[in-house]
Amino acid sequence: MPLFGRFEEQGPEKHMLGALQSIHLPARRFKDSEEVDYVIVGVGSAGGVLLQRLARAGFNVVGLEAGPFWDTEKDWVSDETGSHELYWTDPRVTGGTDPLALGANNSGKGVGGGSVHWAAFTPRLHPSDFEVYTRDGVGADWPIDYSIIQPYYEQLELEMPVSGPAYYPWGHPHGYPYGPYPMGGVGNALIKGCTALNIPVSIGGPVAILAGSHGDRPHCIYRGFCIQGCKVGAKASTLVTHVPDALRSGAEIRPHSMAAHIELGSDRRAKGVHYFDRNGNLHFQKAKAVIVSGYAIETPRLLLNSACPGFENGLANSSGTLGKYLMAQAGNVVLGRFDQPVRMYKAPPAHALTEEFYETDPKNDFVRGFAIQTVGPLPVAFAKQMLAAKKAWGWGMRREMMDYDHWASFGLLGEILPWADNTVTLAEEKDRFGLPVAHVTFNLHDNDKKLIKAAKEKTMQVMRAAGATEVVQEARYAHLVGACRMGSDPDSSVVDKFARTHDIANLFVCDGSVFPTQGSANPGLTIQSLAARTADYLITQGDRVFSSNDRDMTEPVIRRQLAPPETWGKGIPRLT
Ligand SMILES: Cc1cc2nc3c(=O)[nH]c(=O)nc-3n(C[C@H](O)[C@H](O)[C@H](O)COP(=O)(O)OP(=O)(O)OC[C@H]3O[C@@H](n4cnc5c(N)ncnc54)[C@H](O)[C@@H]3O)c2cc1C
Ligand code: SF4
Repeated sequence: MPLFGRFEEQGPEKHMLGALQSIHLPARRFKDSEEVDYVIVGVGSAGGVLLQRLARAGFNVVGLEAGPFWDTEKDWVSDETGSHELYWTDPRVTGGTDPLALGANNSGKGVGGGSVHWAAFTPRLHPSDFEVYTRDGVGADWPIDYSIIQPYYEQLELEMPVSGPAYYPWGHPHGYPYGPYPMGGVGNALIKGCTALNIPVSIGGPVAILAGSHGDRPHCIYRGFCIQGCKVGAKASTLVTHVPDALRSGAEIRPHSMAAHIELGSDRRAKGVHYFDRNGNLHFQKAKAVIVSGYAIETPRLLLNSACPGFENGLANSSGTLGKYLMAQAGNVVLGRFDQPVRMYKAPPAHALTEEFYETDPKNDFVRGFAIQTVGPLPVAFAKQMLAAKKAWGWGMRREMMDYDHWASFGLLGEILPWADNTVTLAEEKDRFGLPVAHVTFNLHDNDKKLIKAAKEKTMQVMRAAGATEVVQEARYAHLVGACRMGSDPDSSVVDKFARTHDIANLFVCDGSVFPTQGSANPGLTIQSLAARTADYLITQGDRVFSSNDRDMTEPVIRRQLAPPETWGKGIPRLT
């Protein structure tokens, strides 16, 4: 029993998003037999934005979400190990020469998806990211260029909103709508190291964390539990930024609903989605169009599990590229010990970064580049890093843990290229619903290895220049994207530039899986910006999506008025 009384229960009339943000309204419930306009699989980073936009535009929309609808007041705790429920920890198989760790630090599960546990770094991709093949002869070009996504970056930076400097020099230089927030100890170390080496560094963002209160959301209190789910509501997640408006606009979110397969009609159009409820009962939600937003692993898994006559190798897979070109960013963590206490838990982990090494440099023996960012592991994560980096164990581990306050950590974010042999396929193993689980295969190639080596050395150099007396590192990966890539050529991509599958006119894939390349920016802002653009396209197309197989490839108009109220038009004037 909390001191201030009983918890309010979540009920049919009420969705709880913490004490300040509960939404009091009748929960809409469409009947399975009722044909809705859109069913969206996964209410995460992309799914949350799509749901909000389409509902606000007047469509009947259902979001099927495999995880729970969080009551942030009751379900989330200020405890590192207590937060693992936020992650997709269902079985997955991992393999390849450089297997990715899958599980409790990976994709999200529950309304808000990965945006609930992200650190909220929100840099944009650079213009060069959209033409990697043309510039460097590797990877692929995107079917869109930077100018297409730029207005959506500006839009989402206001909707989240993003705190950051008034002038951000890298990529396409721009400014942020809300001022930067104060530094913690790790940020100070990054500034000191970069300054000593004459490397420009961005302070206090870009990060989707409130530097001041905004609407019904309070400012950040430097509690440091961002990756555990921000109970305060200062960190943006679609759970607090877009889902409330989606519900107010008439969308239905059906939590604990695990999509099993998409049904295809004899007319080669999607008819709806079969899903399991929390008791394991199978249902079928009819829909005029289907959007899959399940993350770079679960999206290809669902399409592969939806194989049917005509698409024996997976739905929408006539190109044979479904599940291929999966990417992760190199995410090595470099730790440095300082004589003075750093106290890295006393701030959001995301608060300073440099993109000075982002672009291809002809002096390097590799193409593309990397970023260096602050990270602030809490004690359990720190213990794992000490085990990996120093083989600390027993009494040695206790000594390291007693020293926790003296350590700072930086994360490198390195661009790994898209390779056909990095894949999501189906495993023999099945989950509790009897559905084959994902088998993820990951191999580093020559360019990736050289880039990681250089990025590691530079990050360690910065840590030493900051004054660290001991510097160690842990190899790891971050941010999976790709495996359903977008492109103009139906023979080498799964979706077109609006995220519509090349093969099925009323089936869309909209999430991180559509990235053809990934740059070395954290992907979340781009994922949400692409979702807002796809929503604008669908709204512009109107009922044609539901009946016609024709493809109108004209850019949609940008509908800023469909943003959640109180978001568009706020902030300081931006530099363009
Ligand atoms: C620790 C950590 C920190 C991160 N920090 C950052 C950061 O600072 N900045 C950044 O940009 N990115 C960050 N990321 C990455 C970011 O969280 C993801 O890239 C992003 O959330 C992916 O968005 P998405 O829409 O593709 O998928 P998600 O947000 O994961 O949403 C997918 C949703 O679909 C649901 N789902 C999947 N399959 C089914 C199914 N069959 N039926 C029903 N529902 C289903 C899932 O439960 C989930 O809710 C971080 C990730 C981690 C793990
Ligand atoms: S540090 Fe700020 S953003 Fe992070 S969990 Fe605490 S209040 Fe939320």
